[in-house]
Amino acid sequence: MGSKTTVEGSLEAPTRHPLDWKSSQFYDRDDLYRELERVYDICHGCRRCVSLCHAFPTLFDLVDESETMEVDGVSHDDYMKVVDQCYLCDLCFLTKCPYVPPHEWNVDFPHLMLRAKAFKFKTQGARFRDRLLSSTDRVGRLAGIPVIVNFVNAVNRGKTTRRITQAVLGIDADAPLPAYHRQTFRRQYDGYKTEGIEAQAAAPTRGRVVLFSTCYGNYNEPEIAEDLLKVFEHNRIQVKVLKQESCCGMPKLELGDLESVEKLKQQNIATLARWVEAGWDIVTPVPSCTLMYKQELPLLFAGDEQVALVQQHCFDPFEYLSIRHKAGLLVTDFPAPLGKLAYHPACHQRVQRIGPKTKELLELAGAEVTVVERCSGHDGTYAVKREFRPHSVKIGRPAAKKIAQAGADYYTSDCPMAGHHLESILADGSHTTHPMRLLRIAYGIS
Ligand code: SF4
Ligand code: SF4
Repeated sequence: MGSKTTVEGSLEAPTRHPLDWKSSQFYDRDDLYRELERVYDICHGCRRCVSLCHAFPTLFDLVDESETMEVDGVSHDDYMKVVDQCYLCDLCFLTKCPYVPPHEWNVDFPHLMLRAKAFKFKTQGARFRDRLLSSTDRVGRLAGIPVIVNFVNAVNRGKTTRRITQAVLGIDADAPLPAYHRQTFRRQYDGYKTEGIEAQAAAPTRGRVVLFSTCYGNYNEPEIAEDLLKVFEHNRIQVKVLKQESCCGMPKLELGDLESVEKLKQQNIATLARWVEAGWDIVTPVPSCTLMYKQELPLLFAGDEQVALVQQHCFDPFEYLSIRHKAGLLVTDFPAPLGKLAYHPACHQRVQRIGPKTKELLELAGAEVTVVERCSGHDGTYAVKREFRPHSVKIGRPAAKKIAQAGADYYTSDCPMAGHHLESILADGSHTTHPMRLLRIAYGIS
């Protein structure tokens, strides 16, 4: 550690270093395992994150069951067992770790896990199931074909067929799978652009947004993208719907398939950057996709001017409305005020460090909000994998219990998939309602 005194935690704001994933060192096995050993050792001495996810208990069990009861007693062959349990929620970095940069120990646990996943993907590839689950765009396009869409939805709903997909693909028979739609959002709003509203800027927003509908908002729940469009237009914000877009790349990132992330970035970024240059902002209805543009792509492609431009003008939709509210530009007349709500903030929205914007807006719309700040256990694409489902359910139970105790009229999460995961744990017939739908209801927008 040199002659400097090592302090417990840093008082400076955490920073993220770009990921130098094109360097030969990034995929160098010895270098990676040295870094894993270094960070695992710091985590073993700290153990603050033990309750966050299954990655840390896996590491600590390996250490405690080793001969030396130190990281040096853990076989390198077991290192990936920890990596396999991380679904890149980023919460350890954001909420727990005192050793993140600029601290000299330079611990960025999620990005070290990402590097290890990328190494694993490059050297071993991935299972068919994992490649399928992370190809959200391709699956959505295929599943949305007339006739096929009915077949896919029937398979996903049928108890017997789900047992078969569990046996063949390893997709848990009890995990909620989203429905697919023939009338996708982009089919309904092909190239749509608001007419008759004059854009009014309120820095840093420009009053004109391109709606990046996302795979989920396009194929699985077109209503959440439509709710966003309607609520924004109600607040006199111009909306443009792209004719074409590709997946943001988050599921491929989760898999460590960085080459595919780059391909997807190339398919999207020039178009998005052109719209930004023309005076438009970008919003997406799914926090993970927003995070991709705000954080992950800029760290993977540092120095890419188009990526930086999109980053500067990409917003969480509730953050956007909140900025407009501060400037006195939000409609605050809610003819159908909301009642009691149990609200679960999504991790990928929390790590954007924008504050509790969804909660504030729901309260503005008359809601009495109980915040359920517990992990849903949704875990990206992990919660539907057979081997992860039991743990995902266990992790999500305290959140589901708090929701049930809140006795609310609605429960809601910024992440629609997290909401459905909680729905499956609650199993009491209650349904999650997306916060943008709640705002639409409160505004009385038909
Ligand atoms: S990023 Fe999330 S899933 Fe990964 S180790 Fe940290 S808390 Fe666990
Ligand atoms: S990530 Fe940071 S806070 Fe969490 S166990 Fe490791 S050193 Fe401790």
